[in-house]
Amino acid sequence: MSRDKAKPDTTPAAASLVVPRARAAATFAASLTFEAVERRYGEYLALAGVSLDVKPGEVVCLLGPSGCGKTTLLRVAAGIEKPSGGRILINDREMAGPSRFVPPEERGVGLMFQDFALFPHLKILDNVAFGLKQLPKDEARREALAILSRFGLDRYADDYPHILSGGQQQRVALARAIVPRPAVMLMDEPFSGLDVQLRESMQEETLALLRETRATSIVVTHNPEEAMRMGDRIAVLRAGRLVQSGQAEDLYRHPASLFVARLFSEINEITFPVRHGAIDTPAGRIPTPGIANGRDAILCIRERGVGLTASGGGGHSRPGLSGRVLHAKFLGDVARLEIGVEGFDKPLRVRVDEGEGLTKGVEVKVTIDPKTALIFPADSA
Ligand code: ATP
Repeated sequence: MSRDKAKPDTTPAAASLVVPRARAAATFAASLTFEAVERRYGEYLALAGVSLDVKPGEVVCLLGPSGCGKTTLLRVAAGIEKPSGGRILINDREMAGPSRFVPPEERGVGLMFQDFALFPHLKILDNVAFGLKQLPKDEARREALAILSRFGLDRYADDYPHILSGGQQQRVALARAIVPRPAVMLMDEPFSGLDVQLRESMQEETLALLRETRATSIVVTHNPEEAMRMGDRIAVLRAGRLVQSGQAEDLYRHPASLFVARLFSEINEITFPVRHGAIDTPAGRIPTPGIANGRDAILCIRERGVGLTASGGGGHSRPGLSGRVLHAKFLGDVARLEIGVEGFDKPLRVRVDEGEGLTKGVEVKVTIDPKTALIFPADSA
């Protein structure tokens, strides 16, 4: 978490990011471009040359571990922070660059902070209607009520924020940020405080609203599943650098690095020496293009990518490696097993659908499709 996030930001700059909407405003979808954006704090480079083009109406999920610069990127796009290098453009117009800085309130950008800072002295309806001041009062009230009702909070319209739970306040903040229909919407972990069911319905409702308003959006999340569910595209940030961006399926199937592979699935990592352009594994010989002979390669086997069949009842003749269930943990829809497998030094972790009856001690046949395995140089993590 950045130091700024310690306290709620109730400064005029923060309030101004609930962008006011003009009467009968139509939202024109806008592009948002980051060109080699840098942000330094003293010696520390929080953003180290990020380039990203978000197309009009596109929803990009920004994914990455704590401290990698996600919030900083949003703050720079919104104009709350100045970049130390590079440029920010909206619809090809420079918002921030070496010689220009457009203040936040003139960018048409809505920002929902992680510490969403509702106005404590305003009723919930007035909090939501904050960005609708240019509409006639009745109309603003109607719109604010409509969105509160979509988020299941209309009954609190005349209450003050302090009576709401943290999750409810978060939903009000989301409503307040979206209702003015900003052309560009930036959201910092908008669903982090919600329980699983509420989180899914809020994700759907928010996505529907973003689509309706055609807002070009960046949604920050720690959660890969949320990123896959919401994003037209996912951008992965690591230590201030954009390491990969693409559609969920691309990132899942073709991660460019071990770091990205680890984000998108639970994997077993096993190191083998590369000889004659390949590694010799118990599952067969697998080519390792691009990794020099003599170096080590890491074979990644997804926990979901291992086939298991009980080998009792004459099953010893079935194809596959011989193994035994060493440990089984019930996890609801799935079970997580540890399997001792011939040829592997360490047990493989495997996820199977619950109900497959693979309990501790059961003998199994194990199949691993080398085509679904991923391989990375050992020193690339
Ligand atoms: P989280 O997921 O925990 O919210 P994040 O990816 O949003 O993290 P940022 O808040 O963008 O990360 O911070 C990136 C880095 O920049 C961190 O190491 C943070 O300490 C540093 N940083 C952010 N704001 C400041 C500041 N105002 N002064 C000094 N360092 C800062």
